[in-house]
Amino acid sequence: MDYLPLFLDLRGRTVLLVGGGEVAARKAAVLLEAGARLRVVAPALGQELAALLAAHGGEHVATTFAPAHIAGCALAIAATDDAAVNLAVGEAGRAANVWVNAVDDPAASSCLMPAIIDRSPVIVAIGSGGASPTLVRRLRAQVEALLPARLGELARRAGGWRAAARAALPDVDRRRRFWDGFFEGELAARILAGAVDGEACEARFAATLAADAAGTPRGIVWLVGAGPGDPDLLTLRAQQLLQQCDVVLYDRLVPGAVLARVRRDALRVAVGKEPGRHRTTQARINELLVGYARRGLRVARLKGGDPLVFGRGGEELSAVLAAGIPAIVVPGITAALGAAAATGFPLTHRGRSQAVVFVTAMGEAAAALDWRMLAAPLQTAVFYMGAAQLPAIVERLLAHDAPATRAAAVIERATQPGQRLVAGTLADIAARSAAAGVGAPALLVVGDVAGYAGQTGLEPSADGHHR
Ligand code: SAH
Repeated sequence: MDYLPLFLDLRGRTVLLVGGGEVAARKAAVLLEAGARLRVVAPALGQELAALLAAHGGEHVATTFAPAHIAGCALAIAATDDAAVNLAVGEAGRAANVWVNAVDDPAASSCLMPAIIDRSPVIVAIGSGGASPTLVRRLRAQVEALLPARLGELARRAGGWRAAARAALPDVDRRRRFWDGFFEGELAARILAGAVDGEACEARFAATLAADAAGTPRGIVWLVGAGPGDPDLLTLRAQQLLQQCDVVLYDRLVPGAVLARVRRDALRVAVGKEPGRHRTTQARINELLVGYARRGLRVARLKGGDPLVFGRGGEELSAVLAAGIPAIVVPGITAALGAAAATGFPLTHRGRSQAVVFVTAMGEAAAALDWRMLAAPLQTAVFYMGAAQLPAIVERLLAHDAPATRAAAVIERATQPGQRLVAGTLADIAARSAAAGVGAPALLVVGDVAGYAGQTGLEPSADGHHR
């Protein structure tokens, strides 16, 4: 190990900052956040740093650096663009036994400033010993995405509950198991989702602790939107929960690239309709969800797009809640939004479309729809459908006075490798789609905005990224 990472308590301590420019201002901001008292040595201060000092207080010594400035400081940061000055600060630090960090200059430094992810009280620091700041920045972004925004709140609350847990579970091993279960369990998930307020939170913790002491396992169901197919379109919360679940029940719509984001040792259960295979009935799916959760497992119900849009997610949610099992819904990007982004058409457009309708026109339900409303101008109708329904939908729209010249587009596998767009009008979209052999999953978009589809002309690559 080239460096020992440590967390410094700088509250009320004096830190020497040499330099008055933008880099110095950035360092000053971090130091002030950590509660340090600043002694800034620089002939002149830039606007930013001057404003920080004015707002937070701190000493400004308006000269060039001299070794005497380091006296009484807990730490020194050299943030000038003059290598000789940085070196001088480094030497003064060595002589006075004060840690020195020279920005972007490991040779002049006795300590390095890490990249920081601040979810206080949880803080993650990342460094590469100066080898590659770019790599560190990338790592920081990756780790940042994995850490829920409310992690700090969770840690703070857990800190406040430690004494109660110690009292209820005096055995250390038992207590460690409890905390492990807690951080993976329902209450932690709720806190991270911002789905519980202060008082309810206290009561729920007491109940969780009591249940653990009594030995009853408690499962949970997460109803998770998988988005339209590109795994990078998962929400951060979806990604976090998929990394925690014990079981995942997934639909046929969910592609392998998304399933690859599920925790490796989670049990995978396919429940959707698969061509040529038996379809799991909705009742059976509800039964499975409840069954797994009753065994104390954390169940992710992964559904294409958004779980509450045409996915029978409402029924699953009711069934789970009716069984007394806690549930959390994680929204996803519904197919219409994915298709619009991936093919470059707006869902609303000034003067052209003032409303968006998401509609499913499958089977008998189609007859009950208000087709006159769907055929009206100045809106965008997005049909979630099986490709086989397409001719019947177009026929009904025309029969209800939609003009045959109205723009229409079919998007197959939006955001996925092999995405295809068929553009036309109500007069020819059915024939064009048939000729192209469009299959599931596909959307039909009807309205002037459909005329913009294809603006990007970008094909998603195999890894889901656009080139
Ligand atoms: N809950 C899903 C919709 C489920 S209904 C959502 O919010 O997107 C299934 C229908 O969604 C499919 O028949 C198809 O019309 C549409 N669909 C889902 N994913 C799609 C995709 N990637 N591209 C085009 N259409 C899609």
